[in-house]
Amino acid sequence: MKPLFDLHTHTIASGHAFGTQKENIEPAVGRGLLVLGRSDHAPGMPGSAHSFYFGNYKILRKTLLGIRIIKGIEANITDFAGTIDVDAEMAGKVEYVIASLHPPCIPFGTRSENTAALAGAMANPFVKIIGHPDDDRYPLDYEELVIAAKRENVALEVNNSSFCPGSGRQNGVKNARTMLHYCRQFEVPVMLGSDAHIWYDVGEMGRCRALLRETDFPPELVLNYRMDGLDYVLNRKEKSVNTSGGSVR
Ligand SMILES: [Zn+2]
Ligand SMILES: [Zn+2]
Repeated sequence: MKPLFDLHTHTIASGHAFGTQKENIEPAVGRGLLVLGRSDHAPGMPGSAHSFYFGNYKILRKTLLGIRIIKGIEANITDFAGTIDVDAEMAGKVEYVIASLHPPCIPFGTRSENTAALAGAMANPFVKIIGHPDDDRYPLDYEELVIAAKRENVALEVNNSSFCPGSGRQNGVKNARTMLHYCRQFEVPVMLGSDAHIWYDVGEMGRCRALLRETDFPPELVLNYRMDGLDYVLNRKEKSVNTSGGSVR
């Protein structure tokens, strides 16, 4: 089975990535993707784009050079309650929000603090995906994380970049393996993401797929392998905006 979509990609607008939107399309099409999601870093990441950039997503066509484009943003979690740096107005201008822990934006917390931060972010109705929950600098209670994802219908990411040599994240494979163990136990689906910061990595999920094979992870729990997996990510979390838990500012 092959991934049909990649919702975690960056362009030069993120400030530390190297591909343009047009450049990112070629490898996506070449790898057989049907959908390319763009998820530049939210303004809280040093060097990333102003909120005006995401507001101007409206000019982007839904299909570019033969591939469907979906407009997202990778939000920064800014406290251990799960607050993100994407407010309701900005979130309303994109089709999905990834929420992630990034060192410039939140200190390394304890296991319980980090887990609470991700659970709080998941309670935010705009958050569809938790990005790279696989970093020993932010240790997590994976059982609690997976149970929260099941409750909130939020996708947990298996992040290809975390498994690459030179990644700033630590022990990504070990942590993802633990997460997959609980995802299988509780029947929680995962989403593969390249987290490409340069065009030739867009759609590259080989390291993710190797780990899935190694762990004999059930393909039916991999959202990227079917188009209704995209619907699960984008639409399934239907809740009112003012829910308890994580907040927006
Ligand atoms: Zn990230
Ligand atoms: Zn990213």
